[in-house]
Amino acid sequence: MLDTAIRNATIITAGDRYTAQIGIKNGRITAIAEDVGPAAEEIDAAGMWVMPGGIDAHVHLEQPQGEDVVMADGFESGTRSAAAGGTTMVMPFALQQKGQSLREVVEAYHAAARGKCYVDCSFHIIITDPTPSVLGQELPALVKAGYTSFKVFMTYDDMVLNDAQLLDVFDAARRERAMVMVHAEGYDAIRYMTRKLEEAGRTAPYYHAASRPESVEREATHRAISHAELTDVPIMIVHVSGREPMEQIQWAKRRGRNVYAETCPQYIALTADDLKGLNMDFEGAKYVCSPPPRDADSQTAIWEGLRDGTFDIFSSDHCPFRFEDPMGKSLERGRTSFRWVPNGIPGVETRLPLLFSEGISKGRISAERFVALTATNPARLFGMYPQKGTIAIGADADLTLWDPARKITISQSLMHHACDYTPYEGMVVTGWPVRTILRGRTIMLDGEVTGTPAGAYVDRGISGAFGGA
Ligand SMILES: [Zn+2]
Repeated sequence: MLDTAIRNATIITAGDRYTAQIGIKNGRITAIAEDVGPAAEEIDAAGMWVMPGGIDAHVHLEQPQGEDVVMADGFESGTRSAAAGGTTMVMPFALQQKGQSLREVVEAYHAAARGKCYVDCSFHIIITDPTPSVLGQELPALVKAGYTSFKVFMTYDDMVLNDAQLLDVFDAARRERAMVMVHAEGYDAIRYMTRKLEEAGRTAPYYHAASRPESVEREATHRAISHAELTDVPIMIVHVSGREPMEQIQWAKRRGRNVYAETCPQYIALTADDLKGLNMDFEGAKYVCSPPPRDADSQTAIWEGLRDGTFDIFSSDHCPFRFEDPMGKSLERGRTSFRWVPNGIPGVETRLPLLFSEGISKGRISAERFVALTATNPARLFGMYPQKGTIAIGADADLTLWDPARKITISQSLMHHACDYTPYEGMVVTGWPVRTILRGRTIMLDGEVTGTPAGAYVDRGISGAFGGA
């Protein structure tokens, strides 16, 4: 007998929509049929949409921030928040600090995560110190062990790689067949703009956006694409904010380059005006993230890109700092200049409802496209397909039941994260996840995260980018 049967389900995948029953045994989908037969647990999904559980491929949890700043979410609260928002898997970043061995970094991150995750997880590695031994010895061993993706930064004092280093990392990625995610913003241009703004006394959080205009992102995006061409490696440009970097990605895709792209909720639901706060005051710090949200025209462009395939995945870039906290956004230094305000906003819980409502409910994208962007493509591009990211026989039973008609006003009181605000306070959304199922077990029901943390670590294969995904 089955463990669980989901009856009357409107099943939506990246490619299909149909009504059927889903049978689950030992955490996997073992039957999809008009009638799957008897089961120990019955779930009636009448009126609901059943979609693959969300995969959030860009989440920062418990990431070291230096001495006086602390990230709001660790693995427990971050993954609880994910489960509440219909996400069954997150991919956080194990950060290499200068001089550290990658193996040590990964082991420390496992120790932090162990026993604390409500959803499944798998790590990307951030490379900040690409020495010959890191790239020549550690990286190959880690890729073989299932860490098949990593991230590099083109800005930030303690993480920036110069062009020579980027080329070395890209070269190693081609050799080992690993997916490189690139934070594309030009370091020197941002430093120049920051200095000019500070000299003019423009230090409020709003000027964070002015310090890194779209041209800075466009230039770095083009540079990363050119380096990827030279080294003949697929790359993913992450958190793309607007039209100008998109045009660079479209140019590369037209030329047949394997360039993938990600965008995030802040670029469809916020603009730089949000950084003004109430009256150019410190409230704006709540929206400080990089790249910053742009304007209404950028939002229009992002929607075009979500529809036409410029974007392959939609992730949260969840990077939470508490607002009323001297070790968060309200760091004392932050009051003297925007440059010290910790960069990042929470969003792992609101990612799917925002895209569902603004995308599907408002007729901008299809439900199938939603599934591709939020589950199927991340699974393919990060080497987990078809174990994750779809509804098929043999796949993990990671499922989210959506009530497509449910109207909810987003508010901090509904959130399960450890942050003390949501940037989307007061937004009304149509469509809400009402049940999250992780490998056959209900982990969220009607806003209540249930049970103990039972998330598993997922070892991954080579990205589909190397095999035509
Ligand atoms: Zn980034």
